[in-house]
Amino acid sequence: MFAKVIIDQDAKALDREFEYIVPQGMAVSEGMRVLVPFGARLLQGFVVELSQSCEFDQSKLKEIDRTVEDFAVIKPEMLALMRHMADKLHLKLASCLRLFLPAEMRTDKVRELVVRFVSLAQDFEMPSARAKKQLEIVEFLKENGKQKFADVSNQFGYAPLSALVKNGVVIVENEQILRAPEFDKLQQEHRKLTDLQTRAVETICENKTYLLHGVTGSGKTEVYMCLIERQLERGKSALMLVPEISLTPQVLANFKARFGDQVALIHSGLSAGERFDEWKRIFFGQAKVVVGARSAIFSPIENLGIIIIDEEHEQSYVSENNPRYDTHDIAQFRRAYNDCTLVLGSATPSIDSYAKAIDGEFQLVEMPVRVNGMEMPKIQIIDMMMELRHGNNNIFSMPLMFELKDIVERKKQAMIFINRRGFSSFQRCRQCGYVAKCSDCDVALVYHRFENKLKCHYCGKRYHALDVCPSCGSTDIKQGAIGTERVVEELRKMFPDVPILRMDNDTTSVKNGHRKILNEFRACKPGILVGTQMIAKGHDFEDVLLVGIVDADQSLYQADFRSIGRTFQLITQVAGRAGRSATQGKVILQTYSPNHYVYRFATNYDYKGFFKKEINLRKVTKFPPYARIVRVLFSHENEKVVAEECKECFEKIKEIKEDAPDEFVYLDVMKAPLNKIKNKFRYQIMMRFALSRADELEKQVFDCINPKCKSSVFFEINPNNLS
Ligand code: ADP
Ligand code: ZN
Ligand code: ZN
Repeated sequence: MFAKVIIDQDAKALDREFEYIVPQGMAVSEGMRVLVPFGARLLQGFVVELSQSCEFDQSKLKEIDRTVEDFAVIKPEMLALMRHMADKLHLKLASCLRLFLPAEMRTDKVRELVVRFVSLAQDFEMPSARAKKQLEIVEFLKENGKQKFADVSNQFGYAPLSALVKNGVVIVENEQILRAPEFDKLQQEHRKLTDLQTRAVETICENKTYLLHGVTGSGKTEVYMCLIERQLERGKSALMLVPEISLTPQVLANFKARFGDQVALIHSGLSAGERFDEWKRIFFGQAKVVVGARSAIFSPIENLGIIIIDEEHEQSYVSENNPRYDTHDIAQFRRAYNDCTLVLGSATPSIDSYAKAIDGEFQLVEMPVRVNGMEMPKIQIIDMMMELRHGNNNIFSMPLMFELKDIVERKKQAMIFINRRGFSSFQRCRQCGYVAKCSDCDVALVYHRFENKLKCHYCGKRYHALDVCPSCGSTDIKQGAIGTERVVEELRKMFPDVPILRMDNDTTSVKNGHRKILNEFRACKPGILVGTQMIAKGHDFEDVLLVGIVDADQSLYQADFRSIGRTFQLITQVAGRAGRSATQGKVILQTYSPNHYVYRFATNYDYKGFFKKEINLRKVTKFPPYARIVRVLFSHENEKVVAEECKECFEKIKEIKEDAPDEFVYLDVMKAPLNKIKNKFRYQIMMRFALSRADELEKQVFDCINPKCKSSVFFEINPNNLS
């Protein structure tokens, strides 16, 4: 027997299948991890195919040295997914396989957690009456049964316990313990579904893709849980994806309350041990419901009945790291493989998904009203230029200050949303305009007031804050725009007695950081939570009656065709945090462009109107979903090398364009907007082509990349981030 093996190494040259002989008597199956001789070394690899014959000269083949486990760690579905990804996304086989296993497992860094237990032997001789401690232990174990060795030893002493073990009175057993992530305990009462929820649950019953368009507070979570329940009753399993960890505490608590130990949780906030053990519970079929962030789409759950992507429009579903993938594509693959249901849920679906629903590729299910019938919060637009003209150069407009005071007096809660993190985005000299930049990356440094340091958000390098302008010597240094810390500081001045909490990347980097802040906030009445994007989604606080959006325009003016859509989504999501219970909420939106159409649609919660405008724009300007964008990005330390290699590739692509002039809407080569990151220069080729021959052209373009070039090359399809 022969095995095709993929070597678990990153090198381009190794990214293919190597053949090995399966030695007589070795039990090997497809998907197993093996150790194989490679040159003088023994490398880890994965068996991806077994066959009776070999393609290579048999006399030159080597034998598999040994298997790592006695079962296949990669299941057949995942092997098929690997081929699909390598083929469609132009990814390396080994890097796909890596996505399927906890990193800790590949490097063998986590050990199973084994705990020693003690219990009384079947028959034993009672210790002598003088050994008082020993007698106490015997009594204790008689009453309480099996106990942890460490606990008993702590309570009664190590010496008497060891003596009992030595004399055969007490026996010791090792048991493996599965580490489980923490979660909040919730009482789960089964609610009576609203009519809209009932209709949604009844409609979503076939094995196809549904787009669940439900306003914020329409009770989508309850719908998801009912759908999952139905699958469990049929003996199937379920996969539920949520965009960020900050969301999972509440969702997870809900799911744990409803489905108990059948739930496994996968996200990057887990410790290595927890992640490994949750993965194992899924792998061996103990967990039937997986809840997790993006990477959970790769969990080895079998017999899927339903996949749910909550907040499907979220950018975080696209992995920007290598390997790049879009969770939606993977979900579609798994849906087809398992012949199961896929539900995409959102209050503000992505333009692409909604277009598919209109075209009939997905089935649209709508929940246009909140669960309690409460009206959506009223969004009031404040023109910050007018505020300035009236002499208010504060962060907060007069109406926002007024509403905040009102909330505090009524002992309710408010959220203040800021579009970025840090105290102020950058430091600038008022005299000559100098802005501090990272020496390794072509980006402005971000000022962190707490540490009084400048930080590069791309490479993490830290610098001293500016006192004196290095360019002109002036000491007139200004902090750029507003950040969370600054807002918190201002609020504390205004309301010295009110708890003011902050939630952003800095405050949530500790384990369970989100959960702690959210739980603390829940108890603060009155209380104000200041935060970035993280506070925009999913949270359900019934006493939040006011949401302030400090700088709504921030996401509006980015050089990206999706930025207006993102602004619409953000406003709708943030606004959705207010007035979720018995009182209507209010939103104060501060802007310098009060007449922008996005605000008109957003304040009316007019998703359909917005969609129409946006889809027409994309049609006219030929952007996705009416075209495909491809970016080929080159990066290397040496600018000359990267420029030349990029140019060489561009010349080849130009030839493709000559043969397909109608299909190419756009093609150009340029420095990337971020010309340098971590001391590597970046050049890019951007192109758009019509959909008619997109697959074929994409493949041709991919083949223009010289596999021997020195630069790192990233091939991106409809990238989210064009920096
Ligand atoms: P969405 O995800 O659509 O924004 P949620 O699922 O968070 O909405 O639900 C909003 C609120 O309504 C939550 O507090 C939830 O517990 C509650 N809820 C959901 N369904 C019902 C129901 N059938 N009856 C009463 N309350 C419900
Ligand atoms: Zn200066
Ligand atoms: Zn840097």
